[in-house]
Amino acid sequence: MLSVGVDLGGHTISAALIEREGEAVRMVSRSDRETPESRKLDKVVHVIAGMIGEVSQGRQISFVGIGIPGFLDKTRSKITRFTNFSGLENVCFAEHLSSALNRIGMSPSIAMENDANCSAIGEAFCGTAKECRDFVVLTLGTGIGSGIFVNSRLLIGAHGMAGESGHMTIGKGNISCGCGSKGHLETMASADYIERSARRQGLPPDFRLLWDMRDDKRADALISGALDALAGGIASLVVVLDPEKIILSGGMSKARGLAEEITVRTLDRLPVPLREHLKIEVSVLGADAALYGAASINMLER
Ligand SMILES: [Zn+2]
Repeated sequence: MLSVGVDLGGHTISAALIEREGEAVRMVSRSDRETPESRKLDKVVHVIAGMIGEVSQGRQISFVGIGIPGFLDKTRSKITRFTNFSGLENVCFAEHLSSALNRIGMSPSIAMENDANCSAIGEAFCGTAKECRDFVVLTLGTGIGSGIFVNSRLLIGAHGMAGESGHMTIGKGNISCGCGSKGHLETMASADYIERSARRQGLPPDFRLLWDMRDDKRADALISGALDALAGGIASLVVVLDPEKIILSGGMSKARGLAEEITVRTLDRLPVPLREHLKIEVSVLGADAALYGAASINMLER
């Protein structure tokens, strides 16, 4: 079976043709393009349709799944909150894409899912969570997202918005968050937050550089504060969900030793009986998990 996964990002759009034969899943081809500067509906749809045509290479595909970095309604037909693409909010995005694909002779079924949920689906089908029934994927990048599986099912919630762990309230932080509230984990531990704080202090605004200069007291204080906030968030997820694993993904997860350091900080915050079960791992699929996951949305048990 052939399907295409699309990852719609603020800076880059990625698309990949995924082939599935029984248990075996492989990426056949992929394409990455800059997100249109205007971020208008017709432009974004045009680019995505072109990329789907490009990666499909004239082969007939049955399904296209799209990972969206925003809040979706419960039926997954509309994007209800999409900070970086305001023109795409509350429109039936899949219908627009379907029309564009029809014009180039393609008629796959189309579905949308939150991008961090797509990462979790990818990890479940062919990544670090392949044998897991209960796990959490945390995507640590410009923002913080998460996808949660409970009993082998993606957690959606009553209104379709479960798993937004980046918007958990942590400590007494009062920094405004892109979601319209404040004091959220994302405003204390995301790469964006760390880099903006670094710039204000005259340090290099680059998470990886800061990670490598921990002998500088200011850099260490910045990183340590973010890791403490993250550990607090993970400890809260663990006591509520009791997962088999927490999987770290996204750009920050590539920092050497990150999982080990967060594990130490999280252990301190957990009730004793849960400590021996804490397992924090870095994704083996990395950013590709979202593409594999998007291409597999139609395989989910709902
Ligand atoms: Zn928030």
